[in-house]
Amino acid sequence: MFLGDGMGVSTVTAARILKGQLHHSPGEETRLEMDKFPYVALSKTYNTNAQVPDSAGTATAYLCGVKANEGTVGVSAATQRTQCNTTQGNEVTSILRWAKDAGKSVGIVTTTRVNHATPSAAYAHSADRDWYSDNEMPPEALSQGCKDIAYQLMHNIKDIEASGVIMGGGRKYMFPKNRTDVEYDMDEKARGTRLDGLNLIDIWKSFKPRHKHSHYIWNRTELLALDPHMVDYLLGLFEPGDMQYELNRNNVTDPSLSEMVKTAIKILNKNPKGFFLLVEGGRIDHGHHEGKAKQALHEAVEMDRAIEQAGTMTSVEDTLTVVTADHSHVFTFGGYTPRGNSIFGLAPMVSDTDKKPFTAILYGNGPGYKVVGGERENVSMVDYAHNNYQAQSAVPLRHETHGGEDVAVFAKGPMAHLLHGVHEQNYIPHVMAYAACIGANRDHCASASSSGSPSPRPLPLLLALLPLGILF
Ligand SMILES: [Zn+2]
Repeated sequence: MFLGDGMGVSTVTAARILKGQLHHSPGEETRLEMDKFPYVALSKTYNTNAQVPDSAGTATAYLCGVKANEGTVGVSAATQRTQCNTTQGNEVTSILRWAKDAGKSVGIVTTTRVNHATPSAAYAHSADRDWYSDNEMPPEALSQGCKDIAYQLMHNIKDIEASGVIMGGGRKYMFPKNRTDVEYDMDEKARGTRLDGLNLIDIWKSFKPRHKHSHYIWNRTELLALDPHMVDYLLGLFEPGDMQYELNRNNVTDPSLSEMVKTAIKILNKNPKGFFLLVEGGRIDHGHHEGKAKQALHEAVEMDRAIEQAGTMTSVEDTLTVVTADHSHVFTFGGYTPRGNSIFGLAPMVSDTDKKPFTAILYGNGPGYKVVGGERENVSMVDYAHNNYQAQSAVPLRHETHGGEDVAVFAKGPMAHLLHGVHEQNYIPHVMAYAACIGANRDHCASASSSGSPSPRPLPLLLALLPLGILF
């Protein structure tokens, strides 16, 4: 499963044009890897208590199969955000857990912290997505026995049978408070955060069987030096917090998303029972929140490269691949730009109202709102093609917001046809589980001998006979 955080349809289209333009084409006619998937659906993203959702409630939907309140992960809507004492008894399990329980290998690869909202719904049950470590939790929640998300990452899925992969950022949440970071030794913000003094890397290692090969790595060089055939368990934490934007990436210390995916699949697909892998392009969302469309779109293009990478290593005969987003953003592009116009370029005319030029890309709200001398800023005076240029917005906000419209779901492989039409977001993991014959609903699955591939019962015949029965 590939999850583009904040990758709404307008982002997909703009990323497609960018991908083409990076290859010196006009761009519009380019095909993203996800464009090549034969089935497409729309996903309704609202949370149980929010029309415009967040990444935590939505992650619970597309990983655990139930909608939830915003800000909560791996719990039903009976759990109220920040209320630790509403957690117990309301935990819900994820497709990752269902896969693990079926003996499959499982993996999480993300460009955010591995304990961030999206990945955390795969393994944690938390009334608040912000409880990255115990340092971020209120004393009340700690005294009521709730555990932070990094702790749950290491403890909740520790007994993976064959192989497992965790890659992304979030190193600081694994180490005791004030422990110096291995990469940024002068940076106080990169230091360990844990009040309980635990070293979660050591704990992760201690849970792995002695006869298996487990590796903890923290930089790209180590990742590329690994022999995946000799690795059963991999924990890669490449930054203290989120990973760098792809455009800012350090090619020595930070792997790209597609490099992480390549290694992850090599490790996971050794398991004859198969695997579940969650890949998150997690910083598309961050680029948009900052109003930095160029950062967001390069993140989306890199996720598409990761999808291509996975496509070369798997077969549609036995692998269901689903690409979707958790929610959209108030990101748009327009202005009657001609074919091949730089996606970061200007519309071909000036405004007929304030007589100033405008970029094709705009945000409905966000930090790019700029008034100069009582008027909208003249963008021809600024470098609007800069990596960190903040596109103009209609309403000033420090952080641009999510959008509320449906997002696309692209699917290929077994049972991919179940993903067409308009669906509630929480339908998605049930399709993946149905295709893989894992989880609670396995009535359609053949006996264990037929290698786990689904074989539907003759239900249509039964239904056809019923009206006859009524007639007679
Ligand atoms: Zn967001």
